[in-house]
Amino acid sequence: MTSVSDSILIIGCGTWGASTALHLARRGYKHVTILDPYAVPSPISAGNDVNKIVDPASFSGDDDDATYTADRLVREATEAWEKDSVFSPYYHDTGYVIAASKPKNIEELRLSEGADKPENGFEHLTTAEDFRGTMPKGVLTGDFPQWEGWFKKKGCGWVHARKALISAVAEAERLGVRICTGGPQGTVINLLWEEGDVKGAGTADGVEHRADHTILCAGANAPQLLDMKDQLRPTAWTLAHIKMTPEEVKLYKNLPVLFNVERGFFMEPDEDNHELKICDEHPGYCNWPPHADISQPFAKHQIPLVSEQSVRLFLRECMPHLADRPFSFARICWCADTPDREFLICQHPEYKSLTLGIGGSGHGFMHIPTIGSYIVDCLEGKLEPRMAKVWRWRPETAVGRDWEDVQGRMGGSYKVLNFADYGEGEWTSIPEVDATTA
Ligand code: FAD
Repeated sequence: MTSVSDSILIIGCGTWGASTALHLARRGYKHVTILDPYAVPSPISAGNDVNKIVDPASFSGDDDDATYTADRLVREATEAWEKDSVFSPYYHDTGYVIAASKPKNIEELRLSEGADKPENGFEHLTTAEDFRGTMPKGVLTGDFPQWEGWFKKKGCGWVHARKALISAVAEAERLGVRICTGGPQGTVINLLWEEGDVKGAGTADGVEHRADHTILCAGANAPQLLDMKDQLRPTAWTLAHIKMTPEEVKLYKNLPVLFNVERGFFMEPDEDNHELKICDEHPGYCNWPPHADISQPFAKHQIPLVSEQSVRLFLRECMPHLADRPFSFARICWCADTPDREFLICQHPEYKSLTLGIGGSGHGFMHIPTIGSYIVDCLEGKLEPRMAKVWRWRPETAVGRDWEDVQGRMGGSYKVLNFADYGEGEWTSIPEVDATTA
């Protein structure tokens, strides 16, 4: 049993930690502290980004409970983006264009998106003209070679990720959550193991933060604090920005998201810095230095040249007029994949005071308005059984884990690559900017 007077410690003030803090505060919890090595927005949070996609078919699991969970999550998140005033200013219901290039992948997309079902409201795109027509004249100038896809005009789009994250933390703080971020006092170096349980966490300044309940929301860094039994694979993706002119920013306003699952995606330029973010699509990078037994996240504001080439290939196919423009910013962005890409939201089977809110698996940002509510349900022991089953502690699914499994992802070399294989000369060399504002 939990009580609103219990002390609660959240480790990690990124996407899910912020959401958890907010929902705890909304339910009246009075003693909530959240720790993070960085001031909000953490430069290593996957959510510290100018935009993320809100996708109506975000992720469909492979049994009835997983499908139920995915459908419910998407429905509730979309509703919260529209109605919850902490998040709604950052939601842009601009629609999205989803596409692929190889016939097999086009077919897979058709099925996974339910693109043929009239009730899903997709328009079929088969020619370059069709694709170009989804945006104002002059935006999409490419030939779209072999592309086929679908356009959904409402009920999906993109969000300003960083602003939504900051807004969630500001509201949590206003409601009384203690935010302890930046420097050694926010850097958790160990959990406090006592009497077969977890009683809080120790930070790099030597302080022990004792709590009745501890919630681990450290994203890709969680395996550094807890033996995850191979259930989390820290995996990174790559993003790059290019500077747009004031005229282009006007032209590129209110665009739908454009996502080719083999090439990459973009959303309209950021309103503050006038930069267009592009992600190249691929199964991800791990970092396996010699003798590491788990992929090791690290921060870097550059991307491998092979990813730069993929970004430029994507641009050449859809916006060739931008394909050779220099990058103004780039970074690697870490997330944590479970073997089945379902989230890991559960109480630890051995440490009864430890709750886990991890395993975003590349589709966890769009749930920031609601995911914390499920994490708090879990803490309170009232998570709906079907969801609890899908998000359970499941080391049996990670026995003999194939760390190179692409997990259904496409694009790039169709392989999970290893950053440790890339020498300094194989990365971009973009002049560094302040990572919190780029
Ligand atoms: P994070 O947001 O990374 O938070 C982890 C936090 O833990 C950070 O703030 C970090 O500073 C903190 N931390 C780390 N170590 C410690 C420590 N020792 N002590 C205390 N705190 C610590 N999802 C979507 O829904 N739509 C998208 O379009 C989308 N696009 C993506 C694009 C890219 C390039 C990437 C990488 C991910 C994308 N995702 C998307 C996935 C989504 O961003 C993640 O699933 C989600 O942000 C994960 O949230 P999190 O809270 O688990 O991790």
